[in-house]
Amino acid sequence: SLRTKESVVDVLIIGAGPAGLMAANAFVKAGISVRIIDKRSKKVEVGQADGIQPRTLEVLKSYGIAERLVQEGNRIYLSSFYDPSPEGGLKLSGRAAANTKLSQKGRYPYSVTFHQGLIEDILIDSIHKEGLEVDRSLQPTAIELNENENEIESDESYPIKVFLRSLDSAVGENDTEVVKAKYVLGSDGAHSWVRKELGITMDGEHSNYVWGVVDTVPSTNFPDIRNRCLIHSLEGSMMIIPREHDVVRLYTQLSDEDAQEVIDVKGRVDLTKWGPERLLEICKTQLQPYEITFPHEIRWWALYIIGQRVASAFSKHGRVFIAGDACHTHSPKAGQGMNASMNDSHNLAWKLAYVLRGWADRKLLETYEFERRKYAKDLIDFDRKWAKLFSGKPRTEQNKDGVSHEEMFKAYETFGGFTSGTGIQYAPSLITNTTFQHLASELAIGTRMPPQTIIRAADARSFELQDLLPSDTRFKILIFAGDLHVETQKSALEDLVMAATSEAGFLTKYGSRGRKDSGWATVFDILTILVDAKEKVDYTTVPEALRPHWSKIFIDDEAISECRGGNAYKNFGISHNGVVVVVRPDGYVGMIAPLDGTEDINKYFAGFMKLVTVKN
Ligand code: FAD
Repeated sequence: SLRTKESVVDVLIIGAGPAGLMAANAFVKAGISVRIIDKRSKKVEVGQADGIQPRTLEVLKSYGIAERLVQEGNRIYLSSFYDPSPEGGLKLSGRAAANTKLSQKGRYPYSVTFHQGLIEDILIDSIHKEGLEVDRSLQPTAIELNENENEIESDESYPIKVFLRSLDSAVGENDTEVVKAKYVLGSDGAHSWVRKELGITMDGEHSNYVWGVVDTVPSTNFPDIRNRCLIHSLEGSMMIIPREHDVVRLYTQLSDEDAQEVIDVKGRVDLTKWGPERLLEICKTQLQPYEITFPHEIRWWALYIIGQRVASAFSKHGRVFIAGDACHTHSPKAGQGMNASMNDSHNLAWKLAYVLRGWADRKLLETYEFERRKYAKDLIDFDRKWAKLFSGKPRTEQNKDGVSHEEMFKAYETFGGFTSGTGIQYAPSLITNTTFQHLASELAIGTRMPPQTIIRAADARSFELQDLLPSDTRFKILIFAGDLHVETQKSALEDLVMAATSEAGFLTKYGSRGRKDSGWATVFDILTILVDAKEKVDYTTVPEALRPHWSKIFIDDEAISECRGGNAYKNFGISHNGVVVVVRPDGYVGMIAPLDGTEDINKYFAGFMKLVTVKN
């Protein structure tokens, strides 16, 4: 017999891969009512994506969940480039920092590699602690979105109905469920059911590359087996990714002829045609004159087809969203898959939380597609250029038009900020205002707040600035107040406090949510960073209204015996006249204003925030 139950939730997430789990983690930590379902009965155990880039590490750290990856994962510091040697076989053309110059300024000067299963584990453990589980063996069969404008725009409405069917025979396959939701996130992978139901098309090339990948523990005399390698051989191109313990991932792009052999009439890879042994044979040939054998079990292998495509839209009516592989697919060469996916969710989560709490206007949600679709398109452009260089025949005496090491290396350097994630810059929008960029010339508005050591004034303890910007959904107001021993700076700071806390000031207008006496601390966190020295500073000179706690006042000075810190103003290009830096809840610089620019900050928040309605 058919039994139907009904349930209600604010956000329903369909698909518990990296994108879905990241979103679930952010929502549950933000106290949002959320449910996450997946059709699989268990998570990925081995294989699939395996690279976590420096920016993603920073993001995971901001949620307090990077530690296990950093400790247990493999770290890649160097990339090695191999090209054909005139004497035959391969030669080492050069080695370079795996995350290039940009991210060396970054917090993590390495990528971490570990199979996708661990990353999913970390996120699953994290949501578990908050009392949320993945609802498995559940598949959606239909989605209905009420397109009536009032329904779409109302904060109270639940305009979406998703019909679920259990795939678990113990529960009974006849059981169905109707979930009423305010918002739905489709993080259901490259073949996204949600995307198809919404009628969203994928734009881009339909030519597909076939990649072969094997995870195993090899035995070899190749000296770069523990570095990331880009190998251009006369026998084709391959990539080596060192992994946790002694595991190594070998990637090879199939030649057109080989690709023909493994693709069936429907254009899908037929895994019965080839085994991993065939891939290992190819790798052996490409690596000559070095020897490599495979005495251990194959942990995971795959042949998979990738098109370079971006979804034509990332949402329907700002009610149903898609994220991750559902929005973009590309080759694994730059190791972006999981990173792009998790960062989509990181971008969306705080925006949706603000709207659901009634703090922000729904137009804030439009910035998700604006920012992440542009990023996805850039990613695909990059992937195309990189794929061309990577798959091109190497330059040799006989083939002068081939790809040279210099070309490859230059592209590698150019794209470094992009692939490490630390160089990503969101364009001007409602939440990214570049008017006062000149006041902090080295702190690009729209990029993530870079790492910097600062010293707490009260006790001279050193802190990494990024650790003071957790993903707790609050805006961080960084007041670089200059030197308070200078009378004009002191009065400029006092004026700022007066303006920001006045009736018309942003702290009052958008800060005190809920009860009148709750203050602005639910929405804003304020850190003051002074020009001063440990031996001279007196944190009590900062007006009390700006220091709910002694721990919020810092100085730009060197850490005691740590060889770090100092030069924050210089590194950001900020003069001793000071500035205010508004950091968005996702860690990106949203705006910069002069100390007397409260009016501009008020306007920035007026662009998307709703006025506080005080409940006494
Ligand atoms: P996914 O990880 O695909 O997660 C989607 C989730 O949604 C899955 O758990 C799935 O079960 C669930 N789901 C799908 N449809 C439904 C539905 N209708 N109802 C309910 N749940 C549903 N990337 C690399 O960088 N390197 C690699 O070597 C690599 N190899 C890969 C090999 C394979 C076989 C696959 C499939 C992917 C590979 N990728 C690789 C890509 C990488 O795994 C993705 O970029 C990354 O996992 C994207 O995360 P996601 O959460 O968007 O999607």
